[in-house]
Amino acid sequence: GHLLNERYQIKGKIGGGGMADVYLARDIILDRDVAIKSLRMEYANDQEFIARFDREAQSATSLAHPNIVSIYDVGEEDHLLYMVMEYVEGMTLKEYIQRFGPLDVQESMDIMRQIASAIAHAHANDIVHRDIKPQNILMDGHGQAKVTDFGIAIALSATALTQTNSILGSVHYLSPEQARGGMATKKSDIYSLGIVLFEMLTGRLPFSGQSPVSIALKHLQSDTPSVRRFNQDIPQSVENIVLKATAKNPFHRYDSIYDFEEAIEIALHPDHLNEEPYTPPI
Ligand code: ATP
Ligand code: MG
Ligand code: MG
Repeated sequence: GHLLNERYQIKGKIGGGGMADVYLARDIILDRDVAIKSLRMEYANDQEFIARFDREAQSATSLAHPNIVSIYDVGEEDHLLYMVMEYVEGMTLKEYIQRFGPLDVQESMDIMRQIASAIAHAHANDIVHRDIKPQNILMDGHGQAKVTDFGIAIALSATALTQTNSILGSVHYLSPEQARGGMATKKSDIYSLGIVLFEMLTGRLPFSGQSPVSIALKHLQSDTPSVRRFNQDIPQSVENIVLKATAKNPFHRYDSIYDFEEAIEIALHPDHLNEEPYTPPI
């Protein structure tokens, strides 16, 4: 295959979407597989896409966390920007749910705990992901989940000046405030996490429709369906987490990702819920 900057041997394409392609490659210096995301050729001279790609590289590079795909190197060849990252051998959480879903409560909560920990790290650095969905979560084959694709993430410090209100992420995970054309905040990420938890537990999406607009309207108007209606073994405490994370009004959601993490922690250890205060014998 093609050698990128005399270091990366391109082995084949493994993914990509609107603005970038993702390749599996061999780093011949460190002798390891890597994934390389590069801006597509047709956007090589498009200032807006270059700026967006730069933002993605910056957001992702500033974060170091076991549940976030690591960025090793950022470069340019023949005016094409690229990002070298940790290769996660496995599948996306979307494929994982399609193959094994619905997932049992313990596994769903364990995966969600890892994703929430990654997003907590982003939020602590004032970065909002804005595109949380199972397609952007990679499962490594050892039960480890890794969040990727900070392609439309924003640094909150820069939002006031640069954030547009256009809908950029997938409509299936879109918070009501974004559906309304408002700004995405940390609470919008919490909403998307609630939808992902719903999908792991039930193997389906809470809202579907004929068009993106009809789905967006359901995020605005329809109550999140009960996960216990699909599986009665799901504890009420877990149902409550999905409902609180996906509350229409951001003020009714968890106050922060830390509160969301804590709720998951408690639900993973149900004995914490049943603790009775100690009463001495008479
Ligand atoms: P676009 O922005 O153009 O829509 P994208 O943002 O969807 O593209 P990514 O989500 O970063 O691009 O990657 C697309 C797909 O490539 C992922 O869903 C996954 O299947 C694969 N992929 C991305 N990064 C990695 C990685 N580090 N290891 C393994 N596979 C990866
Ligand atoms: Mg993606
Ligand atoms: Mg993307």
